[in-house]
Amino acid sequence: MNKKKVLISIFLLLSTILVAQSNKNTSPLNSCGADNLIQILRKNPVFTANEEKLNAQIRLYNSSMQSARISKASPAKVKRTGKDKITSVSPITGIISIPVVVHIINSNPESVTNQMVIDGIKELNDAFAHLGTYSVDMLGVNTGIQFCLANTAPDGSLTNGIDRVNSYYENIDVDLESGALAALTQWDPKFYANIWLVSSIKGEIPPTVFECGSWQRVGFGGYASAGGGLVVSSLNGPLVAHEMGHYLSLLHTFQGQNCANADCTLDGDLVCDTPPDRSTKSSPCNSPENSCNTDTVSGPFTKDMPDNISNFMDYGSPCPTVFTQGQSDRMHAFLSVFSGGSLLNSDRCNTPCSGAIMAKFNWYSNSHPVVGDIVNFNNTSTGASGYEWYVNGVLTATTQAFSYQVTTTATYVIKLLAFDAARSCVSSYSGNVIADCGVVARFSPDKRIIASASVIYKDPVLFQNTSYGATNYQWFVSDNTGANFSNAGATKDLLYNFLLPGIYKIKLTASKGACVSNSGTYTLTVLDPKQDGSISIFEVRCYTNDSIRVVFGINNNGYDTIHAGAVVGFYDKFPGLPNPQKLNNSFVLPTDILGKCSASFTHIIGVSKPKQDSLTLVFDENNLLDELSETNNTAFIQNFQFKIIATPIDTSVYTNSTLSLLVQKKSNDPISSVMWSPITGLSCTTCVNPILSVTDTVLMKAIAKNSFNCTDSATAYIKVFPIDIGLDSSGIDCFKNDSLLVNVKVCLKNGYTKLKNKVEIEYFDNDITLGAANKLGSVFLDPSTVFTNGCVVAPTIIKMTQTPNVSIFINRPLVPFEMQTANNSLHKKYIPFKLIAQPADYDAFRGEGFPVNIINQGDTYKNLLWTPSEALSCNNCLSPVVTTNVNREYKVTGSNQYFCTDSTFVRVKTYYRSHLALPNVFSPNRDGVNDYFYVIAGKDVVTVNQFQIFNRWGERVFNSKNTKPNEYLGGWDGFYKGRIADNGTYVYYIIITLLNGTTEEVKGNITLFR
Ligand SMILES: [Zn+2]
Repeated sequence: MNKKKVLISIFLLLSTILVAQSNKNTSPLNSCGADNLIQILRKNPVFTANEEKLNAQIRLYNSSMQSARISKASPAKVKRTGKDKITSVSPITGIISIPVVVHIINSNPESVTNQMVIDGIKELNDAFAHLGTYSVDMLGVNTGIQFCLANTAPDGSLTNGIDRVNSYYENIDVDLESGALAALTQWDPKFYANIWLVSSIKGEIPPTVFECGSWQRVGFGGYASAGGGLVVSSLNGPLVAHEMGHYLSLLHTFQGQNCANADCTLDGDLVCDTPPDRSTKSSPCNSPENSCNTDTVSGPFTKDMPDNISNFMDYGSPCPTVFTQGQSDRMHAFLSVFSGGSLLNSDRCNTPCSGAIMAKFNWYSNSHPVVGDIVNFNNTSTGASGYEWYVNGVLTATTQAFSYQVTTTATYVIKLLAFDAARSCVSSYSGNVIADCGVVARFSPDKRIIASASVIYKDPVLFQNTSYGATNYQWFVSDNTGANFSNAGATKDLLYNFLLPGIYKIKLTASKGACVSNSGTYTLTVLDPKQDGSISIFEVRCYTNDSIRVVFGINNNGYDTIHAGAVVGFYDKFPGLPNPQKLNNSFVLPTDILGKCSASFTHIIGVSKPKQDSLTLVFDENNLLDELSETNNTAFIQNFQFKIIATPIDTSVYTNSTLSLLVQKKSNDPISSVMWSPITGLSCTTCVNPILSVTDTVLMKAIAKNSFNCTDSATAYIKVFPIDIGLDSSGIDCFKNDSLLVNVKVCLKNGYTKLKNKVEIEYFDNDITLGAANKLGSVFLDPSTVFTNGCVVAPTIIKMTQTPNVSIFINRPLVPFEMQTANNSLHKKYIPFKLIAQPADYDAFRGEGFPVNIINQGDTYKNLLWTPSEALSCNNCLSPVVTTNVNREYKVTGSNQYFCTDSTFVRVKTYYRSHLALPNVFSPNRDGVNDYFYVIAGKDVVTVNQFQIFNRWGERVFNSKNTKPNEYLGGWDGFYKGRIADNGTYVYYIIITLLNGTTEEVKGNITLFR
C-alpha cells in the first residue's frame, strides 16, 4: 500500500470512529490505548513511583544532554554509580538500533508474511528517521533511533525476530486479556522491544461520552506502555510509530488536555518543543487547530503556535509524520535510563553467525492441546542439517520431526535448535504450548459504560462469548454494588439488562464436561439513565409592550429522553418572593430532547404589569418528570425590560449653540427606532445622535422602540443660560435746553441675538437703588430691535436732570430673568451746556486790540454768535480780538447740535492809554529822522517837570527839568559825556504836570541804536 492510500484510509476511518466497536481494520492514531493502559497501571503505586523516577531521570538526562550539546561535547556515554542513578551523561551520537521481536497472534499466523513484517519495520524506521513519505514536514527530525528485527534470539542463537502464535487471542479484549497476551509469548523486555500484532482489540478508549441520545464509543488501534511493549492491530506505519513512541516514554501531545505550560518539562507531554495542545480533534493538515494559547508561558516558543497536528503523538491527524527534537531527546533519555540502558546496550540486532539457517516450527494441527494430547510439531526450518528439541530446557529429541505428549495443565516451553553439519551456526525458535482441559472462558462486552434502569431506559449489554472449547456456559452478574453474584443465565452470549444504576461485575464460567474454566471479571459502570432537564435563559426582550419574548434553552443533562409535552411555566417574581403571579402562557415542549442534548426555544408570554422586569422560568412545573436533579429546574432573570436613556440628561448651554444628543439602550435590549420631539432645531429626528441647534430651554423627548415594538421614552433637559442684557456705554447731550438726548449702548450676552420680550430702559437723576430719585424718562426695547454684533444704541430724550447725575437702568423687573445684573445700570455725570465769559469785564486802551475769551462747558457748541459784531476779529469764535475806542457790551449766544442754547455778556470799557506818546526806539545818527528822544504829549500836559535817562549801569545819561513837551530840543540827542552813547536799552523817568494841576510819573524803556 502506498502512502497516499494509507492517508486516505486514515482519513476515512476518522469519520467512522463513532461506530461503537472498532472493526478489524481500525488502525491509526485516533485509537490508541496508551492512556487507558497508563490509567490502569497507575493504580499500582509501585508503577507510579517508578514512572515518576523515570521522568525525573529523563529530565536530568535531557538537561545534561542540552548542556553537553551547547559545549559540543561528545561522544555518547552514560555513566552510572549504583542502581538507577545517573551522575553524568553525554549525548548519544550516531544511530541507535533497538532490537524488535514481532509476535504475530493470529488464527492464521502465516497470513502475515515475513515480508509484511519487514516492510512494517522499514516503515517504522522511515518514520523515526524522518525519511521517505515522512520527510515532508519541517517540524520533524531524524531521531537517530532505528529498529531491527532481532537477529539474536534470547538464547544467543540466530533468529529472524518473527514469532507466530496460532491463538484465539488474535481478538483481544483490552480490559480482560492484556495479561493473557503477554503470557502467550514474550521475549525479555530488557533486551527486546516486543510488538504483539493482533487482528483486533476490543475495548473503548476512554472517555466514552454520551451525546444527544447516543454513545460515542471509540475503538482501539493499539496500546503501549513505556518499556512494556506495544500491541497493535496492524502494521500501519503511523500507528506503530505512535505506539513505539509511547513504548519509548512519549506521551500524547495533548496529554492532560488542559493547556498547562507553567513548566514545559512538567506539564502536558513533558516535552518543550511540542506546543501545548488540548485537542484530540482532527483538523486539516494545512489548517491546524490552535487549541492552546499558553505556548509562550514556558519553553522555546516566542509566539503562540498552532497545534502540532502532524506529530505522531497527536490524534486524528491525516498527516502524522513528525517526532520533534524534544521528543527525540526524551526517547533517547528513556533508553538511557530504562533498565539501566539495557536496550541501548543490547547486541540482539547483531547476527551471531553467518549461515542460511532458520529454525522454525509450528503445532497448528493442534494449537490448543488438552492434557493427554500428543502434540505434533511441524518442523519448517530451512538450511539446517541437524536439530535439537528442548522441552522446558531439557533436550528431548534430535530428530527432524518431533511429537510430545502434554500430560498436565501447564505451559510447555518448546525450543528447536537448527544447525548446519559443522554446528558453526545455530538458529533457534521457541513456542509456548499451553495445555489445559480444553476450555478457556472468554467474553467481551459490546459496551464498556452504559446508562440503564428498569422502566426508564434499558440499555442491554451484549456479552459476547468468545470462549474456547466449551459447550456449557454460566453467566454471573453481581448486584449494583459489585457484590452478591447471581446466576444470570446459561446462554452462549449474554444480553443483559441492568435495572439499577451502579457498579456491576460480570463473569463467565465455561465448561465442557468436567473441564471448567472461569473468565476474568469485568467491571461495568451503569449510570442512572434518568432524564434531567435544566433550564437556562439566553435572552429576554420586551414584546409589544404587553408581552415578553423569552429565548431559553432546555438542557437534558441526563440520558433518557425528555419527551414532548413537558411544560415550562413562567412567573413574574423571583422564587421565594410572596404572591408570584403565573404568566400567560406556559410553554409546552414541542419535540423530544435526547439525553445530553439541548434545544432552545422562543416563547412569547404576557406580563402581569407594564414594564414587568423580573421573570422566573420553571421547567416541569407540575413535577411530572422523574429527573436526576430537581434543583436545576428554574432560571431567573431581571432588568431585561426595554429601557433607554437620553443624554445629556440635564445640561445648560448658551443659546444659539449646538449640542449632540444621544439615546442609548439602558438594558440589553437594543434600540430599533427612535423619534425625537420637539423637532425644532434637530439635525435629524429619527437618529440616535442628532445635533440640536439650541435657541431656548427645551425638554427633548426621545421615544424609542425595540425590534418588537416595545416603547420607552427618555428626556434630555437642555437649558439655555438666561439672557444677560448689559449697558455698555452712553453719550449724554443737552437737548433743547430742557431735555437730554441719551445714546445708551445695550448689548446682549450669553449667545443671545435678540430680545424675546420688551425691556425698559429707565433714566433717573440719581441712583434709585440708593435713595430717592426723579425719573427722567424711559424707553422700551421691543423684540423687533435689531442688535448688530449683539449690540444696539438706543437714543432717548429725557427730562433735564436737576442733579449732575443721570442713572440709567435696564430691565429692572428682571423680566426676562438675568443672572448677571451688575451691567444693568450705568451712572453718568451730566455737565450742562454752558458759555462762560471769563472775565466778563475788560478795561481796554482805546484802539488797542485785546483778546476776550468764552469758556464752553458741557457739550461743545455748534453755533456761536457775538452781537454786535463790531470791533471783533470774529463774531463766531470763542476768543475774538476786540479793538475799540469806545465802551462796548457784547452778547455771546451759543447752541449745541441739539438746540440747547446759552448766552453770556462781555463788557469792554476803553481808556486812553496815556497823554504821552513816547517812542521805544530812537537812532541818534544825525540823519534828521528820530535823532532825538523827547516827550511827545497831548494838550493836557503842561510841563515836563523832570526828564531823566539812565544807562544799564545806572548812570544818568540825560537829565532835564521843567521843559515843555513836544520840544525835541529839550530831549536827549544820544550823546553822553560828549560822544554818542552806546547802543542798548535805557530807562527813562518822567514827571509831568497836567492842566488840572496834578502831576504824573511815567517810566519806560527806550532802545538806542544807530
Ligand atoms: Zn497513544
